[in-house]
Amino acid sequence: MKLGGDRETAGMRLSFSRHCVALIWSKRARARIFNESPQGCACIALRCRFMSLNPVQPPPTQDHKGIFTRLPFSEVTDKDLTFFKDLIPGRVVTDEDDLKSHNIDWLRTVRGHSKLLLRPKNTEEVSNILKYCNDRNLAVTPQGGNTGLVGGSVPVFDEIIISTALMDKVISFDQVSGSLVCQCGCILESLNQYLEGQGYIMPLDLGAKGSCHIGGNIATNAGGLRLLRYGSLRGTVLGLEAVLPNGTVLNCLNSLRKDNTGYDLKQLFIGSEGTLGLITAISILCPRKPSSVNVALLGCESFSKVLQVFTLCRDLLGEILSAFEFQDLESMNVVQTHLKLMNPLQESPFYILIETAGSSVQHDEEKLNVFLAKALESGLVNSGTVATDQSKIKVMEICI
Ligand SMILES: Cc1cc2nc3c(=O)[nH]c(=O)nc-3n(C[C@H](O)[C@H](O)[C@H](O)COP(=O)(O)OP(=O)(O)OC[C@H]3O[C@@H](n4cnc5c(N)ncnc54)[C@H](O)[C@@H]3O)c2cc1C
Repeated sequence: MKLGGDRETAGMRLSFSRHCVALIWSKRARARIFNESPQGCACIALRCRFMSLNPVQPPPTQDHKGIFTRLPFSEVTDKDLTFFKDLIPGRVVTDEDDLKSHNIDWLRTVRGHSKLLLRPKNTEEVSNILKYCNDRNLAVTPQGGNTGLVGGSVPVFDEIIISTALMDKVISFDQVSGSLVCQCGCILESLNQYLEGQGYIMPLDLGAKGSCHIGGNIATNAGGLRLLRYGSLRGTVLGLEAVLPNGTVLNCLNSLRKDNTGYDLKQLFIGSEGTLGLITAISILCPRKPSSVNVALLGCESFSKVLQVFTLCRDLLGEILSAFEFQDLESMNVVQTHLKLMNPLQESPFYILIETAGSSVQHDEEKLNVFLAKALESGLVNSGTVATDQSKIKVMEICI
């Protein structure tokens, strides 16, 4: 895949990441509120509208002198536009206003100035686009939900943006094995909702779920809340299909879990951030939806005690432990101030959120009670509250 410049230098990445760390907590919490309430869609729409109207824009990325140099790629001509309009009629975007939100990243830290966005619907169209761009020496940037936090989803210069938003079809779902095959532009939350209706869930969950695409998740090797329980995408992705920069379609869309044949090419694309090709379809192993979920929020005096609580959790909760997250008092204060949420516990230097997910309400509650009694008795935690009710669970999860 051709990139417009040497954007992904280690130094740049590091500075982006550092810049983002403080924001991730609060934005993730905010995204959960947006996503999980009936008003969620309206809130997201409002935020997008605000972003597109907000006059404050990051400076053009190309102006970061000395960091980026435009490589000798061609510029888009009228002849190119005619080709794309014939190939995907009605899905070629050149209007400056429509392009604005695609040229700016989620954190509003970088800004490209692409003049062209293409919206293919299937693998063949992606293949034809990439073959043409390769032959014409035109640079491109694949874009999913544009929720990435390191500036990789927007152009640096005038690269053509290839949006996967219209590649949003579920191809198949196997009720027995739990393997889902879908196009790359399916929104994570929509996939989860589709699966819940069939007694399954997606193996990953993250704050950006209402906007991010599964292709983008794989391209960034996203982790998220369920990683502790279901592992990383390197284990749950069973196969994928990708289009290489010259238009060749690489079909590794396997759904066989126990496949030990030859090289595992799909692994190269997991975390490749669009540098090797455009992921067009995926096959992913989905777990059964747990019938019993408990969440505990605990207060803790020190970081070393947080670590000891984690060890105790693994010992006493074992297979039902599904999430373990912590935050410090400063982060809790940010949540309280900006989200106007009440901290359900007394003030503590650290807070821990533990989630269990299993198949038996009674068994899981018993295990959790034994763990909580031990953690309190031994002085590892100083306060706590437990929720089994979905609405209370959501409030506690928003806090962390
Ligand atoms: C509120 C919030 C919470 C988050 N929480 C987490 C978290 O808990 N854990 C975590 O790991 N990350 C988290 N993230 C970051 C996360 O990596 C991204 O949000 C998500 O995975 C990116 O998906 P996307 O569809 O938005 O991709 P984009 O942002 O559009 O793109 C990301 C990168 O992937 C490339 N790309 C996109 N689609 C494709 C494709 N089909 N083929 C090839 N390349 C492609 C792009 O060129 C770009 O380099 C969070 C982000 C937000 C905003």
